[in-house]
Amino acid sequence: MLSTMQDVPLTVTRILRHGMTIHAKSRIVTWTGGGEPRRRTFAQAGGRAVQLAAALRGELGVTDDERVATLMWNNAEHVEAYLAVPAMGAILHTLNLRLPSEQLIYIANHAEDRVIIVDGSLLPLLAPLLPHLPTVEHVVVSGPGDRSVLEEADAQVHDYEELLAGQSPDFDAFDWPDLDERAAAAMCYTSGTTGDPKGVVFSHRSIYLHSMQANTTEALGLTERDLTLVVVPQFHVNAWGVPHATFMVGANMLMPDRFLQPAPLADMIERERPTHAAAVPTIWQGLLAEVTERPRDLSSMARVTIGGSACPPALMEAYDKLGVRLLHAWGMTETSPLGTTSDPPGGIAAEDEWPYRITQGRFPIGIEARLAGPDGSILPWDSASAGELEVRGPWVARAYYGGSDGKELAPEDKFSEDGWLRTGDVGVISPDGYLTLTDRAKDVIKSGGEWISSVGLENALMGHPAVAEAAVVAVPDDKWGERPLATVVLKAGAAVGYPELRDFLASRVAKWQVPERWATVASVPKTSVGKFDKKVIRRQYANGELDVTRL
Ligand code: AMP
Repeated sequence: MLSTMQDVPLTVTRILRHGMTIHAKSRIVTWTGGGEPRRRTFAQAGGRAVQLAAALRGELGVTDDERVATLMWNNAEHVEAYLAVPAMGAILHTLNLRLPSEQLIYIANHAEDRVIIVDGSLLPLLAPLLPHLPTVEHVVVSGPGDRSVLEEADAQVHDYEELLAGQSPDFDAFDWPDLDERAAAAMCYTSGTTGDPKGVVFSHRSIYLHSMQANTTEALGLTERDLTLVVVPQFHVNAWGVPHATFMVGANMLMPDRFLQPAPLADMIERERPTHAAAVPTIWQGLLAEVTERPRDLSSMARVTIGGSACPPALMEAYDKLGVRLLHAWGMTETSPLGTTSDPPGGIAAEDEWPYRITQGRFPIGIEARLAGPDGSILPWDSASAGELEVRGPWVARAYYGGSDGKELAPEDKFSEDGWLRTGDVGVISPDGYLTLTDRAKDVIKSGGEWISSVGLENALMGHPAVAEAAVVAVPDDKWGERPLATVVLKAGAAVGYPELRDFLASRVAKWQVPERWATVASVPKTSVGKFDKKVIRRQYANGELDVTRL
């Protein structure tokens, strides 16, 4: 029997119309450095998204599923593009402005971007790439910047505000296409630490469902009374879905634009008083050092969503003392990204929450999970059996974008035959469904037939009062095959000997796991999205570039 219910496509167009009408007064605040921030209501930003859609179609001739790329910071204009491009039926392609040129060129060509919307401040980055981007016909420049660098460009250059000025902001004035909810809406390439970056293509439906999940109280739980500081870049998995989720519920957004250093972040938090924020651990480490040196009031941020790499428990404790609760979340580009959030279970006392908070969290209804052992067998959820995490669900990728021939790349090693995504993350799951990750599969340290969790050693080390950051990698060892090398960044003005750190670790992890090799570094190398770049550390070690002490 068929149901008697209406079949309404779940599209970004609905999110746009809903946000700009029902939550018309909600705001996007964009930081401008010194002066007054740019403040724009959802009604205004939505109206401008309508104008952008009309200009892209009417002036630039964007049709069907052509790719409109963005090379932008987090700001109101980027949100406008987020909504306008998918709603008009085209595909938003967010370019990661921190990638090396050759990767950006590869990605833009692979996606065959036809238009690039660029912040004026990023023109020096874009201009030298353009001669290598034959598919790009139009460059739309938003905000101040030296446009003379585009004089030689083959592409037509437009001014964002001028394009919008010629169009009506009235939602009903534009002829929106009837979209299939399964059609592509946006794409994002994985950061690609090995091999070429791979394109994940989100559908209207996956974005809509993911946003609904993000808005549950177990996830971000934002409402119209919130102001969320969106530090996670809009080019990193759709800023973890925050801009779409906020347009659904009217939560206000504070966008840092290019002012991502700890000092301006502390200033904007103290002045604008966000209630929530989202960013990777590196950002919170930097901010902690900043406010330790020059205190600012961060206490408005009752909740902070932290993920992208493991959150050290010591960081949570430090922020607890500042009245800021860090909520651990796990995800990846392929999972849109929200895969787990660490909301402790009901019915337990506040002092019993800690063991749950330091896990990566629980799976929401949209994510089914299983752990696969080395032989492919499915492991029990007993908090002890470690295996590779596999997931599936309506906002999980089933393949990668294969380029214009339309072929999907589904490398054997990433998608199982029965349709699960192999995450490459290794961990355990508790009987009540809380995930604890111990490593990336490629970062596990295999010592004498046993596995050592690099994340476990890092978390323990970052609990030492003198240690700001610690990254542990596997290095070759004649006797054991591999052993851990600990690289540490000391806090400003702190001094500590390796024997003390070794003894500190020995009291927290099994003795045989304690590293013999130690090095102090000025900073841990980071990827384009702020994760520890262990590939670089391993290379530095192999090339003898680290000053290693052996205990
Ligand atoms: P990306 O696609 O760039 O977002 O990277 C996804 C990867 O980041 C995951 O597969 C994990 O290895 C890592 N990751 C994300 N969140 C966490 C977390 N909370 N704890 C540990 N690793 C994480």
